[in-house]
Amino acid sequence: MNLALLCSGGDAPGMNAAVRAVVRAALARKWTVQAVHGGYSGIFNQEFEPMHDRSVSRILHQGGTVIGTGRCPEFRDPEGRARAAAILTKRDVDALVVVGGNGSYAGLSALHEETGFRCVGIPGSIDNDVGGTDPSIGFDTAVNTAIQAIDRIRDTAFSYQRLFYVEVMGRHSGQIAASVAVGSGAEAVVVPEFPVDLDGLSDHIGRGYKAGKRSAIVIVAEGAVDGGARGLADAVATREPELSEARIVVLGYIQRGGSPSAADRLLASHLGVRAIEALADGEDPCVVGNACDGYMSTPLGNAVTGGPTLSRGDIRLANLLAGLPDPVS
Ligand code: ADP
Repeated sequence: MNLALLCSGGDAPGMNAAVRAVVRAALARKWTVQAVHGGYSGIFNQEFEPMHDRSVSRILHQGGTVIGTGRCPEFRDPEGRARAAAILTKRDVDALVVVGGNGSYAGLSALHEETGFRCVGIPGSIDNDVGGTDPSIGFDTAVNTAIQAIDRIRDTAFSYQRLFYVEVMGRHSGQIAASVAVGSGAEAVVVPEFPVDLDGLSDHIGRGYKAGKRSAIVIVAEGAVDGGARGLADAVATREPELSEARIVVLGYIQRGGSPSAADRLLASHLGVRAIEALADGEDPCVVGNACDGYMSTPLGNAVTGGPTLSRGDIRLANLLAGLPDPVS
């Protein structure tokens, strides 16, 4: 078979490990692989690179993606997708392998439905919101990166007896925030999935200080409240003026970058190989993923909507360990 391989949407640590695994597993079957640079746009821009065994040397440990990623408005149109399929067919490509998130899967699914093009998706997203897997490639590294940053912030918070609000990624999902809160011992976490009790939160932090706590860290998912961490800090300060002397840290893009964790390298390596097996076994169109420590494929159409969500158990654990009441009981 002749494959085209691209990364699409937001980059995630471990995408390179997936690229390497796809290339090595395909070459082992005497298939050919062309990397498409810069996401779906690379198809239209004819940015194809034949991959050899050595093309993927020394990329396993690197963050980002060496073949680039991107967003491509043209691929959102049926006409654009028809043109993309024609370009791929002209280049003798038999199947397209895409490492990306929900949006990339939606594009891939539409491409298959409209043109019959063979395709497989590999889940790359730090948000862990991709269908057909739990977790997605990049989530573990992003959580580790945020926890390391918060460990450092805790040193200053403790030394100055200071309150910090730390904003982490997650417009619609509080999965990074909840995991980071548990892993960093945060005093509170605020997520989009459950409403925040501002009076309860202000009271909780204020009581902590009065009881002799030397620091407080509140983790805020970026989409949890209007204005993110800044908005939350202002809302708390109006209720407890003593808490107005707070610091805001927005971790931002540092959560996306960096060398992938061991867990992400392993996940990406398994899923890259699984993608090639799925094509060899005719399971496509599908996405590959992990569930209950097993690697499997899911029909592409079933994976486009959905994905893991923050469980009540996760938020209960974070609140229990922070000494907060359970908001969902
Ligand atoms: P992610 O894959 O990380 O969720 P995006 O949502 O930005 O990232 O999607 C990446 C690309 O996938 C988009 O630039 C576009 O080319 C394509 N795409 C996204 N959503 C759709 C859609 N509903 N239909 C067709 N293509 C889509």
